[in-house]
Amino acid sequence: MFKFIAFDMDGTLTPSKGKMDSEMVELFKQLLAKYQVAIISWGKYELFQMQVLPHLGTDEKLLSHLYVCPTCSTAMYLYKAGEWQKQYSLDLSKEEREHIVAVLNDAIDTLWLRPERLWWEMIEDRITQITISTLGQEAPIEEKHKYDPDFSKRKKIRDYMLPNLAWFNVLVAWSTSIDITREGVDKAYGIRKLMEVSWVGLNEIIFVGDAVFPGGNDYPPLEIGVTTKRVFTIEDTKEYIRSLIV
Ligand SMILES: [Mg+2]
Repeated sequence: MFKFIAFDMDGTLTPSKGKMDSEMVELFKQLLAKYQVAIISWGKYELFQMQVLPHLGTDEKLLSHLYVCPTCSTAMYLYKAGEWQKQYSLDLSKEEREHIVAVLNDAIDTLWLRPERLWWEMIEDRITQITISTLGQEAPIEEKHKYDPDFSKRKKIRDYMLPNLAWFNVLVAWSTSIDITREGVDKAYGIRKLMEVSWVGLNEIIFVGDAVFPGGNDYPPLEIGVTTKRVFTIEDTKEYIRSLIV
């Protein structure tokens, strides 16, 4: 019934910032043989290069069915002539990115939220979005879980910044991060971009994600009427893929 299966990445196809396991790789390849497939993630392209792409091999026929959509489809990559090629990238300008970073630093200092210890850099410029990881990008998972379990610290940062970031989307994300993109970018936007590029219709797509609940970053596609499948674990996703490839 569906022609196009679009997935979230972290928590759905792979562990958070982790590699796709070999069983998933096999299932995913079988899926690519039958369907058009997309992965829409808030993560940057470099994470796809680590978590997914090198594990899928180099079969051009299969890989030509995959749409790689980092930072919520503000960039897109397709496999052509033996390599992943950037189709477009809706970059923030240098001035916009500098402005966002200045507002972020001001918020953290004014609110006394600069941590004593940082694991690698706090602010990451992904060109299409700025992400702040309040404990640093390499903070251990246990530290991340302890830092802001009720989101209150990051909501404070967001509320402080909002008046100065009127044309941007400020999203409190998983564990310690806040993502800032151009206004209107979310996974519904990601699906719309996908439809533009692939000519697929809204009711031919199913979107599979682990955060399909109000406030979750996989919820927006459901709000624009995309059929959505919520999974709770990566094993759930495997089960669902098996049901599609029989
Ligand atoms: Mg997820």
